[in-house]
Amino acid sequence: MRVPYNYLPMQFADTSAIFRDWESLIRSTEFTLGPVMEAFERKFADYVGVRHCVATNNGTDALILAYKSLGIGIGDEVITVCNTFYATVGAIVAVGATPVFVDCDDRYQIDAKKIESVITKRTKAIVPVHWGGASPDMHAIMDIAIGHNLPVIEDACMGIGGCIEGRSPGTFGRVNAVSMHPLKSLNVMGDGGMVVTNDDELATWMRKYRNHGMVDRDHIEFWGVNMRLQPLQAIVASHGLDDLSRVIAKRNNNAAYLDDRLRSLYHYVKLPRRLSGYVETFALYMLLVERRDDLLRFLIDHEIEAKIHYPTPLHLQQAAVELGYRKGSFPKAEYQAHHLLTLPIHQFVEREQLNYMVDTIQAFYGAC
Ligand SMILES: *Cc1c(COP(=O)(O)O)cnc(C)c1O
Repeated sequence: MRVPYNYLPMQFADTSAIFRDWESLIRSTEFTLGPVMEAFERKFADYVGVRHCVATNNGTDALILAYKSLGIGIGDEVITVCNTFYATVGAIVAVGATPVFVDCDDRYQIDAKKIESVITKRTKAIVPVHWGGASPDMHAIMDIAIGHNLPVIEDACMGIGGCIEGRSPGTFGRVNAVSMHPLKSLNVMGDGGMVVTNDDELATWMRKYRNHGMVDRDHIEFWGVNMRLQPLQAIVASHGLDDLSRVIAKRNNNAAYLDDRLRSLYHYVKLPRRLSGYVETFALYMLLVERRDDLLRFLIDHEIEAKIHYPTPLHLQQAAVELGYRKGSFPKAEYQAHHLLTLPIHQFVEREQLNYMVDTIQAFYGAC
């Protein structure tokens, strides 16, 4: 039985509704910004529960736009976690600032207790990541940030559809970044992203920066760039948003079932704690497992497309050499890099496939 990691062929099997909206967009020729984009931005802001959404090319641009809106640049330090996707950190470096890493906890999220000890006079912001579609302890992080008068910028790139005691990821920080890459819970046919904020002034600045700093066709107020989302993608995103609660419910169902069945394998497989009052998006369903690399090969051999996110934490990447970290700097992240495994549990994984995954994992450990 095959358990594919990639759900896109199934998600986009029927695109008739999207094509209908594309057709009217194409007739209108409103290909940059325009009413379709504005309608999507309004719809997304309402969904998340914030005042403003500024849609961008991708999640990386959303992070850069968020950092820039707060004036983060050369000489500034930005605190984030060392087990995230490259872009969280690449965007910090892109604005000229220096990333400062913190280790993660047993839920693979930034360890809030370790943030305070790395705050310096140069710290300009704290960037918690909703890693894998789960969330860190946002209340603790906000308390620290308020205590030190530092802004929080959430990397909510994987967080859309999640919930923290009634609030969406992306509603805690001053400006927060979202991605609509094909592998995120709300996805488009290619790249897309947005920044969400309740701050009117920052939203106005970001709208201009995203569009060359233009006030109107003939005048710019400052030097900006082009980071605009394409209206064609805004249409895809709008349809995705209509379907999102069903997708998240199915993934949560799958996760709960798998959690339950995997519990009997506790000698070999460790599940993260699931916090009550939190809904995860399960962008990544991750487990800590013994003999990870052997298990991964075994699963692949049995047509279960498991993955690793990621085998090398950021502080041990070639790109991070000049930051001066070394092996042993962040023991939790390093341990997880050797033991974490991601299983496919997306909205098209059915009960028999979940059972097949558990049976296969069981067979692997039973054979040793
Ligand atoms: C996907 C992702 C990004 C980058 O988003 P893109 O749209 O691919 O540029 C940034 N941070 C995290 C945590 C992500 O998962």
